[in-house]
Amino acid sequence: MYISTRGKSEKISAAQAIKMGLATDGGLFVPEVIPSVTGQWIANLVPMSYQERAEAVLKLFLEDYTEEELTTCIANAYSVNKFDHAEVAPIVSLNPQDHILELWHGPTSAFKDMALQLLPQLLSKALYKTQEKDQILILVATSGDTGKAALEGFMDVAQTSIVVFYPQDGVSEIQKLQMKTQKGRNVAVVAVKGNFDDAQTGVKRIFSDNSFNALLKEDGIRLSSANSINWGRLVPQIVYYFSAYADLVKKEEIRQGDPIHFVVPTGNFGNILAGYYAKIMGLPIHKLICASNSNNVLTEFLQTGIYNRKREFYKTASPSMDILISSNLERLLYYFADCNTQQVSKWMEELKEQGYYTISKEILLKLQETFWADWVNDKQTLVTINDVYSKYNYVLDPHTAVAWKASEDYRNLTGDQTPHVIVSTASPFKFNENVLVALGGEEHVTCVNEFDALRDLSQTTGWKIPANLASLEELEILHHLSCDKENMDVVIRSFVKSE
Ligand SMILES: *Cc1c(COP(=O)(O)O)cnc(C)c1O
Repeated sequence: MYISTRGKSEKISAAQAIKMGLATDGGLFVPEVIPSVTGQWIANLVPMSYQERAEAVLKLFLEDYTEEELTTCIANAYSVNKFDHAEVAPIVSLNPQDHILELWHGPTSAFKDMALQLLPQLLSKALYKTQEKDQILILVATSGDTGKAALEGFMDVAQTSIVVFYPQDGVSEIQKLQMKTQKGRNVAVVAVKGNFDDAQTGVKRIFSDNSFNALLKEDGIRLSSANSINWGRLVPQIVYYFSAYADLVKKEEIRQGDPIHFVVPTGNFGNILAGYYAKIMGLPIHKLICASNSNNVLTEFLQTGIYNRKREFYKTASPSMDILISSNLERLLYYFADCNTQQVSKWMEELKEQGYYTISKEILLKLQETFWADWVNDKQTLVTINDVYSKYNYVLDPHTAVAWKASEDYRNLTGDQTPHVIVSTASPFKFNENVLVALGGEEHVTCVNEFDALRDLSQTTGWKIPANLASLEELEILHHLSCDKENMDVVIRSFVKSE
């Protein structure tokens, strides 16, 4: 069963938690008991496919789903039509100590696919299992990556539809094309005349607009969100920690039972939290290294115990980690406060009211037994991309480069020789401009067109452009809608009526 981190919601099943997303008391759903596994259970994963490993892990958390339901969800999410690598999340070992876990072989070339391919499948089954009559309409405001990943995940999924709002001049040409060419009979894509904050504020306002929600309800429609606090987005991410470990054993890079560290480029704390769950379950993870960019709120927190969102916001070369409020941290705090929901509520209240909170010295020391944190500026990020390419012929995207540098810093500082898995969250082609600058210097970037930049990166490195990006130039534009930030609700109404 699932309970809220703030302690004032009822216990509910996994299917209900996935359907609701957020608990009624404003908290996040967590499993009442974290399942544990044995060394033998982990050893059994070694010969399995990614899909089989996913089923083994998911069934421990989603006990109200039948085996058949899970098999179908997983097959739909991680099929060969969606992922361009048979292993789904392969490991590339650059040397005996540094192993890259590539999480970007999905339909949008970034790691959000790992969760957003499965969440809609789990949600659709949850609707059926809880005998929900209404249609679920997913609203997303996106600064680029999440919108496309959500569109791909929800495309043609039963009993759901999705509207994505993006800032008209706030996303890259490729990101815009990725969304405007989206297929599927249940999707809409709308350019908002404004910036990301305008789109985000508009969506939030619509979620809390009671009379608008009542109108939709008359048409049998309920709003929901696909953001990373939903348990259905977190649980798929636990799988690849186990899968990575099993692959290292399979490739004889480590022996079953050996400890390893994971290094995670972190924003909203979803990815690294999934690693924490894997550790608590019994996976031999020693340290979880939390890597940030100049928005280093988490580094400061894990070093000092003070979480302070009142600071300057930087736009960096690793934009998917440009975040000042890491929502999933609430789940971690819940465990480190020994499930004291009053304490968690108090911290979250302080964060909201005064912009910061402080945890006790005792909790900080406990956190530091597992977590180590570091941050990396843009200059170091680009230098790292260049270094790693020169040394290994391997092309890191800027987010992964942040993790690589933090990983190096940890090893240099501590002398600890435990192997590292560096979690790679995006294909370098997705952030081609910064990667080209890193590889060739500013003067190298003469491309006026993003497709030229893709080809340039491919020629420079010999790496193949992911098919989903290469094909964009030829695809038909299917979505032409745009609206003022005041009229987002009007667009939703007319989409609902036209469906
Ligand atoms: C979302 C994202 C991250 C951050 O992941 P969190 O789970 O939010 O910590 C890192 N890198 C890329 C490329 C992302 O898209």
